[in-house]
Amino acid sequence: MKTIAEINRKIRDHDVIVLTAKELCDLVRAGESIGAGDVDVVTTATRGIMSGTLSILSFPVAGPGVFSRAERISLNGVPANTGPCPNERLGIVDLIIHGTAQRDARYGGGHLFHDLIRGAEIEVVVGTPGKEIIRTLSIDNIPYARMLTTRSAYRNYSAFVNPGEQVPSIFSVADFGGDFGGAAFGGCGELNPLEKDLGTIGIGTRVLMNGAIGYVIGEGTRSTPARRNLSLTADMHEMDGSYIGGFATSAGTDVINSIAVPIPILNEEILSGASRLDSEIELPIMDVRTRSEIGRTDYSQVWCSDLRVAFDESRCINCAACNVECPAGAFAGGEIVDDLCCNCGHCVSVCTGGAFIAEMGAIPLHGRTIPVILRHSDRNGAIRLADELKKRIEAESFLLTEPVGRLGEP
Ligand code: SF4
Ligand code: SF4
Repeated sequence: MKTIAEINRKIRDHDVIVLTAKELCDLVRAGESIGAGDVDVVTTATRGIMSGTLSILSFPVAGPGVFSRAERISLNGVPANTGPCPNERLGIVDLIIHGTAQRDARYGGGHLFHDLIRGAEIEVVVGTPGKEIIRTLSIDNIPYARMLTTRSAYRNYSAFVNPGEQVPSIFSVADFGGDFGGAAFGGCGELNPLEKDLGTIGIGTRVLMNGAIGYVIGEGTRSTPARRNLSLTADMHEMDGSYIGGFATSAGTDVINSIAVPIPILNEEILSGASRLDSEIELPIMDVRTRSEIGRTDYSQVWCSDLRVAFDESRCINCAACNVECPAGAFAGGEIVDDLCCNCGHCVSVCTGGAFIAEMGAIPLHGRTIPVILRHSDRNGAIRLADELKKRIEAESFLLTEPVGRLGEP
């Protein structure tokens, strides 16, 4: 038995042993015998499309008395909700902006959050009684910028297939093709925090949220004991834009987030949970039209594939009209922008010349083998954030917290 206080002492003494979830799983696969005395912390992470993300911003746009209160507001054309504080005659606006709010089919809250966090200038339009105020500002001019998620790091995502006719869906980039033509799935499998945890994550657990120190504030919406997810918060000023972005689906835009959570290895039981492999983690297969389960597989079927997507310019046949419209805006000028790419593989599926390269895996279902054509999660990005959390712990810049409440309890 160890305690979190003892692990924190080891961190301060630079005597802590930290493994990423990938490193631990690779050792287990190699047949190594690991005990709870051999490791103090396992860093887990997930990156992918996370609905239920919002930001709360507060900043001045005019001097005191210039307007009574804001009636409507947009940032780079993305509409926000004014308030909750009215800031009467202060020249300050408070607003809540949803990750799923959108300016158009290609630019929404996630793209805006990415631009803000990387320091880009944003156009703010404030409608007030009798006048419109337009300002250009960056996050440095926004004293309060806090992100909050209401459904993050789902314990067990799903794969989606479509047995019928094509339909628009938040689970596809173009309309979701029918006749079992392709599958989409989410979840980082053996990297995912809630797949590895046996009760150490609770209210007050310190995490990395898009590279910033954040905290678990409770369970998220639709969280159940079997399929938990988390609600989190962190300061946007501390975030790293390469961990967050926007994603355009055929039914609206959404947000890509990256979350890393440390698992303190207090005993052998917690270690056994942290050691679970892709092959031990079930992946339900859903009919995208009804959202009902029609089969099951496991993550070893889908994460046996290439984690990164590459572009080979020499294979591009310069089609009259390029088919590749990247949902994350990551393909520009004939190359993939690493900061924006979430390795979803959409480009692999649609490129006429086969210039995008990644083995994407397949979903077995009742004798069929359905090729994966879209990944909602980015295991490569999750590994990167789990590595960063490991480095921060080893550098003593991240200490573990003792939860002040358990998930699922009032
Ligand atoms: S679809 Fe593929 S091969 Fe055709 S122009 Fe676009 S990148 Fe090149
Ligand atoms: S994998 Fe392809 S489509 Fe997906 S984000 Fe990267 S470049 Fe864009």
